[in-house]
Amino acid sequence: MTTPTEPLADLPTRARQILAELGAADAFAPDGDLVAVSPVDGSELGRLRAHTPDDVTATIGRAHTAFEEWRSVPAPVRGHLVRELGELLREHKELLGELVSIEAGKIRSEGLGEVQEMIDICEFAVGLSRQLHGLTIASERPGHRMMEQWHPLGVVGVISAFNFPVAVWSWNAALALVAGDAVVWKPSEKTLLTALACQALAAEACRRVGAPQELSQVVVGGSAVGEVLVDDPRVPLVSATGSTRMGKLVAPRVAARLGRCLLELGGNNAAIVAPSADLDLAVRGIVFAAVGTAGQRCTSLRRVIVHESVHDDLVARLSKAYGTLSIGSPLEPSTLVGPLVDAAAAEAFLGAVEQAQADGGRLVTGGTRADGVSGGQYVVPAIVDMPAQTDIVKQETFAPLLYVLTYRDLDEAIALHNDVAQGLSSAIFTLDVREAETFTSATGSDCGIANVNIGTSGAEIGGAFGGEKETGGGRESGSDAWKAYMRRTTNTINYSTELPLAQGVEFG
Ligand code: NAD
Repeated sequence: MTTPTEPLADLPTRARQILAELGAADAFAPDGDLVAVSPVDGSELGRLRAHTPDDVTATIGRAHTAFEEWRSVPAPVRGHLVRELGELLREHKELLGELVSIEAGKIRSEGLGEVQEMIDICEFAVGLSRQLHGLTIASERPGHRMMEQWHPLGVVGVISAFNFPVAVWSWNAALALVAGDAVVWKPSEKTLLTALACQALAAEACRRVGAPQELSQVVVGGSAVGEVLVDDPRVPLVSATGSTRMGKLVAPRVAARLGRCLLELGGNNAAIVAPSADLDLAVRGIVFAAVGTAGQRCTSLRRVIVHESVHDDLVARLSKAYGTLSIGSPLEPSTLVGPLVDAAAAEAFLGAVEQAQADGGRLVTGGTRADGVSGGQYVVPAIVDMPAQTDIVKQETFAPLLYVLTYRDLDEAIALHNDVAQGLSSAIFTLDVREAETFTSATGSDCGIANVNIGTSGAEIGGAFGGEKETGGGRESGSDAWKAYMRRTTNTINYSTELPLAQGVEFG
């Protein structure tokens, strides 16, 4: 642990310098009602003016006009825009990564990793721009051919959470832009500056390739701003990332106008540790997944379900590893655990630790406030050994709090694993091929992501990302997630002189 250090007086200045270098110098409004705060030391980075509902409606209108032009641009040419965006991100990776650390409190390596993820998805999307394939389908009628095409959808509304302040936008925007859509993004009110920086880069990419300027836009504010995107029928797809609470508010409103939702909501991710597990590997995988990003990833590991024969050994090893974690300013190269996003997050962490103990849990390590940078919310990552999966264990506490549960046979472990409302990410540590295959089979993990001998967090962009149950069912990023951003048409072409009806129907 570090000793407390003084607030970092230069963070607001540094944030301004970075914004200026990224082309977003005019972001601030001194009398603005939104305050950008750094979780590193609680300092005010600047003020911005929230968009009004009328502003958002007008922005959607401009995005729709841009879409009408963009949809006619051939997809491989649309790829040029995303290639340019990827180049700009590569050029400015250091600066944007630093801004992510300042505004979201991620350690430097994770801030840079998030920007790398943006570059990766841009590369993926550029390749995709030549592969938006439909099928050709055998017709049952002579002289006929069936085919499908994928067409641009319209304006995509992106609502994002604080913990991946830039990557989530890029997962959506890179695919949406090659798909021929326009994007209106409402970032978290906790991470405004990184959004404005991305928007400046997207605008520059549009300028460089001559794409419509209003293809990519940002609107800032709280839930009222998001709600305008949710309710506007000119937004055929709302891609919303955040808490399950938010998803339950957004989904029915989009459904009421028969729009489409892509939901990426909360997780309560678990790893099973079997008797045959390589415990060295398991400990490394568990520690990164549980305390990386200070436990503030949707895929953070929250539950370990360990076989009784290796329970004591694993808990002792984890406790030892937790004892070596350096907690403090995320801008210090040696730090592994940065701050929680705000005071409410720290209170939720402390409250959950207390509740788990009231439920009979044994606090193995951590669970208190930590020294860190004065003004920030720093905590000591906790492990609580639980006698049962009580209500608090079934909730997502967005902090570095790991519950340990014990099992006797794999069926029991899988039942415990699946007995939560969320279904995002999961893992098993085992060297037994039967256990590994069972876990990833239809009767195993019920999550959207099921890993073997690797932790629950840190997904690559090549796979489809998302989860089941209260995680919302959406899939973003790789594989065929692009289909959510397009509309499919089925075309039947008759090149004969006859008009046979399907299913042999005779008419007249
Ligand atoms: P949050 O739900 O508080 O906010 C997310 C976004 O939703 C913000 O932009 C917020 O302004 C907006 N919002 C809130 N209410 C709204 C409403 N009624 N209408 C429209 N927009 C509304 O989440 P958070 O605290 O920023 O992020 C943490 C949560 O996000 C965790 O639950 C985490 O698991 C989840 N998350 C999920 C994924 C995923 O891919 N599954 C990724 C990142 C974060």
